[in-house]
Amino acid sequence: MSPDYDVVIIGAGMVGASLACAIAPSGLRIGIIESIALGSDQQPSYDDRGITLSPSSKRILERINVWQQMQSTTTAIKKIHISDQGRFGFTHLDAAELGRSELGHVVVARSLGQALHRQMSSFDNVDLICPAELKHFQKTDSAITLEITRDNKTESITAGLLVGADGSRSLVRRLAGINTKENDFKQTAIVANVTTQKPNNATAYERFTSHGPVALLPIDTNRSVLVFTVDKENTDRYLSMSDEHYIKAVENEFGRRLGKIEQVGQRRSYPILFIEAVEQYQEQLILLGNAAHSIHPNAAQGFNLGLRDVAGLAECIFTGIEKGQATGDISILENYIKLRIADQQRVMNFTNRLASSFYNELPLLSSTRNMAMLLLDFMPDLKTSFVEKTMGIAGLQPRLVRGEVL
Ligand SMILES: Cc1cc2nc3c(=O)[nH]c(=O)nc-3n(C[C@H](O)[C@H](O)[C@H](O)COP(=O)(O)OP(=O)(O)OC[C@H]3O[C@@H](n4cnc5c(N)ncnc54)[C@H](O)[C@@H]3O)c2cc1C
Repeated sequence: MSPDYDVVIIGAGMVGASLACAIAPSGLRIGIIESIALGSDQQPSYDDRGITLSPSSKRILERINVWQQMQSTTTAIKKIHISDQGRFGFTHLDAAELGRSELGHVVVARSLGQALHRQMSSFDNVDLICPAELKHFQKTDSAITLEITRDNKTESITAGLLVGADGSRSLVRRLAGINTKENDFKQTAIVANVTTQKPNNATAYERFTSHGPVALLPIDTNRSVLVFTVDKENTDRYLSMSDEHYIKAVENEFGRRLGKIEQVGQRRSYPILFIEAVEQYQEQLILLGNAAHSIHPNAAQGFNLGLRDVAGLAECIFTGIEKGQATGDISILENYIKLRIADQQRVMNFTNRLASSFYNELPLLSSTRNMAMLLLDFMPDLKTSFVEKTMGIAGLQPRLVRGEVL
């Protein structure tokens, strides 16, 4: 007997919803289960955070018809300014100098969520089951049987492939018995929108400080998203400060490159953890996004990496369909890992190294970081290679990243 769905995705956050949009054109029957109603303040994926999208993400979102629905809410980043507090090294990346129209875009997570959900709901073969929660699952030879709760009732559905896109505390991962490697950076990212006296000129700023990075991402002429990283033990102090004191604290670290910070919006905090699943797949089951790897937000790479994984998995599923394979076929999942593992490892290593150099003020480390920035600024080839890597367009990439259709 065939399962109710060829693919069931747990979690309609950024990554789960992107996968549904990417594989829906195949005609597969797709169920996507989300515990929190879209638009609710509790939705962890779609709040007021500014998300930096790399050019690889733009290409993927264009190919899956999501970009077209949110383009008017995105802001292009034309320049990036990276500096190190208390040191002379800094680097400056300019799209025009690098022969590019932009270095990336910023979108508010809420707008991204609305576009993903609009696109998902345009497919008759995608059932969004929400609010509903996965409670348990059991594997049999031909399918996975899931126990979910909806309207206080328990239901059971069957899936050919179960995708755990249920975030860093993934229940799918736990029920599958998959262990994790974890590191608590003992830092918190505090995010708020700010209005600055001077226009940002489409420039994103990242400043290394002894307690983590401070980033300002442009969202409008005089408005930016401020990501302020603080030591975990100081979180409550920064959250409960008056706006005036908070602005002073930020300006102490960031300076007044954009003039005075005139207004600061609601502050939200995010604990920063590294979590890596030690295996990402089993027969008929795969982990994606934060469930597979949650990384430090210092280089704005988490969703960008998760979206390239989505592109890779969609490609392997389409190829499997052409060969007449079932969606849960282990060879599809093996091909996916072969395609994606190098990029995943590279991004995890890069963000972890960057994080340890932030809060490690050993003179050798901080001067190496300083020297690297100076080198980057003076060597155009090095700059191009660095930018291509952080843009997610270097090395072997899935077809959607290369701008092809599946
Ligand atoms: C401060 C900060 C700034 C960031 N900035 C950037 C950036 O600029 N660029 C970038 O690329 N990345 C950025 N990231 C990373 C990015 O936010 C994550 O990579 C992304 O949100 C991961 O999405 P996800 O769908 O895997 O997980 P989540 O967003 O956690 O979504 C998981 C979903 O699963 C649902 N769920 C969980 N359990 C169940 C269950 N049992 N049943 C049903 N549903 C369930 C949840 O409700 C949720 O909707 C940032 C992260 C932080 C913290």
